[in-house]
Amino acid sequence: MSPDRGARILIVDDHQDNVELLQARLEARGYEIDTATDGQEALDRVAAMPPDLILLDVMMPIIDGIEVARRLKSDPSLPFIPIIMQTALDATESKVEGLDAGADDYITKPINFAELEARVNSLLRIKALQQDLAQRERQLADMNDRLRQMSQTDSLTGLDNRRYIEERLLEMFGHATRFNEPLACMMCDLDHFKSVNDSYGHQAGDAVLRQLADILRGEAREIDRIGRYGGEEFIFLLPGTSAEAAMVFAERVRKAVDAMEFTFPGGAVRRAMSCGVAAWPHPGIASSDALVKAADDALYVAKETGRNRVVRHDGEEFRAHRR
Ligand code: GH3
Ligand code: MG
Ligand code: MG
Repeated sequence: MSPDRGARILIVDDHQDNVELLQARLEARGYEIDTATDGQEALDRVAAMPPDLILLDVMMPIIDGIEVARRLKSDPSLPFIPIIMQTALDATESKVEGLDAGADDYITKPINFAELEARVNSLLRIKALQQDLAQRERQLADMNDRLRQMSQTDSLTGLDNRRYIEERLLEMFGHATRFNEPLACMMCDLDHFKSVNDSYGHQAGDAVLRQLADILRGEAREIDRIGRYGGEEFIFLLPGTSAEAAMVFAERVRKAVDAMEFTFPGGAVRRAMSCGVAAWPHPGIASSDALVKAADDALYVAKETGRNRVVRHDGEEFRAHRR
């Protein structure tokens, strides 16, 4: 038994006795047969359930086989369905026309059944190969999607990883300066995080970082990006956001973290977070690197001045501390 047995073949012929003859012989060979006796019925049968192959008579009233082939082959919603045209022995013109219309092969009437079976099998093999190829292409595309996703994501938190957020930063900074729209950057770092690991273990620390990421995601807008910048250091990129608005946002995030009880098997802890905020446009910020540096400097001041605070890089407090 060849693996092609059981394939579904649609026989289309306006002469009922031709249909019945072919049906009987192909069914005896183990194929599943569907039939149509005019072009419209053939199109309807295919739409209802696409067969694996079509044996198509050329000469039919109203919609002939050429037109049926043309319509089926130009329908992008259909899978590849091999079409074998049945033509008269001397009808070279309709063979050419049929192949031009998209038929994959032809056989001349009166039909030699051994030849028909060989052509059917050969086309079913091609269809199987083609399906295999299409499936592999889909798998490859899925795999590429997953790889791209993985290469952009921090695996512990699901946030953007550092490399990816730095790419986004360059893009967002370019956009901001081109369209003269503000862009805020916020650097955050958990306070006294090391003692979570020291007291409860690294797994507990990981659980805290995951829950923290959930809070950060929950506070951000759709267009904001959040990256894991270092171990327990996170960066927010807030497009269209001034330093004033970013300060309000940062304060909200800080409070949400401060109010959170992080839990893990065997315990719970509370931890606060310190944040530094900077925004473009600002005379001292001429590059994306300078923007991040400004936010990072402000974060440093927030740590120095007591933690669980938000400091703005061009604020009075920042300047006072710098002096
Ligand atoms: P500070 O308030 O000054 O920020 O103190 P801190 O303890 O948070 O900062 P420090 O930089 O001293 O310690 C950071 C700790 O974060 C040390 C490191 O082991 C831990 N850490 C970094 N990445 C991970 C991680 O992926 N999982 C866990 N569990 N711990 C991590
Ligand atoms: Mg820390
Ligand atoms: Mg740190």
